[in-house]
Amino acid sequence: MLRRSALFALLATALQASPVHKTRNVVFVMTDGLRWQEVFRGADASLIADHDALRRAYWRESPQERRELLMPFLWRTLVKSGQIFGNRDAGSDSSVTNGFNLSYPGYSEALTGVADPRVKSNDPIPNPNQTVLEWLNQKAAYRGRVAAFAGWEVFNAILNHQQASFPMSAGYDPFAPKEMTPRLELLNQLKAEMTRTFESVPLDSIPFYTALEYLKLKKPRVLFLSLGETDEWAHEGDYARYLDAAHRVDAYLRVLWAALQQIPEYRGTTTVIFATDHGRGDGGEDWKSHGARLAESKYNWMCFLGPDTRPLGERSHVPPVTQNQIAATLAALLAEQYPQGKPIADVLP
Ligand SMILES: [Zn+2]
Repeated sequence: MLRRSALFALLATALQASPVHKTRNVVFVMTDGLRWQEVFRGADASLIADHDALRRAYWRESPQERRELLMPFLWRTLVKSGQIFGNRDAGSDSSVTNGFNLSYPGYSEALTGVADPRVKSNDPIPNPNQTVLEWLNQKAAYRGRVAAFAGWEVFNAILNHQQASFPMSAGYDPFAPKEMTPRLELLNQLKAEMTRTFESVPLDSIPFYTALEYLKLKKPRVLFLSLGETDEWAHEGDYARYLDAAHRVDAYLRVLWAALQQIPEYRGTTTVIFATDHGRGDGGEDWKSHGARLAESKYNWMCFLGPDTRPLGERSHVPPVTQNQIAATLAALLAEQYPQGKPIADVLP
């Protein structure tokens, strides 16, 4: 008969070896420069005051109703069954730590787990650090099972496209994997011919549907998708289109989530992460912009939903979380130990 201590040791070993992690895939979506203010409070009264159509579409008296109107899928599904950080009204801070509050530093911090002072602008310099996407793709279990789709062309630098060992596409460049489909061909054609509303970012529909097609075709274990319209319309000072862009991103998440539930390889084994690269200024004209001079634009938000994340919903009165934790959290959800950054324990099993 086993002694008690030996029995406990055996039990502990068995528990460790048992598959505690259910997540086998991660889909990580980022939308550029969407403020925590809109995510948690919905449309801003002072910015839609004299805009009747906008008031009808996005205005309700309570912040809870307003935010659900703006992002119904986020609030009714992602948050309800997952967790979101960053509601500063509720004592939950989420922020970047890079000090620049710009896109390249924010994406790089999220994807590499490091706020590297060399990444200090949106200049397309090759990223001096490896991303968690590249790190995973170099592991046998993920090789050829990682892909990235981004609106913004600077992702060619952020993800080091030249050296990247996984398929990716960014900006107006065509996406041309070995295996093409009529849908991918059409998306490339639209990308080449569409009016370039923004110089370095096609409209969100292009990267979204390209990513969705690739997901269905190749079923990658790790898919990264970055959308840019929220930031572009904000810089234009067009609050209506900024809100519409946020609303559309929410609808895209719904489509993506539905696809993940339909595909056996993903159902019940996939975690979705939804985040942004930086916040924006507050009030008046400042909402249009972000950067080091607008200190409050460091505040962002992040959301996690998956089989390993307890449904704690909207987090309140919790320690702050930071952008440099996302890469390690993404890896930890896959039961991998990423060397940079501290995973957010609350979203792990
Ligand atoms: Zn911007």
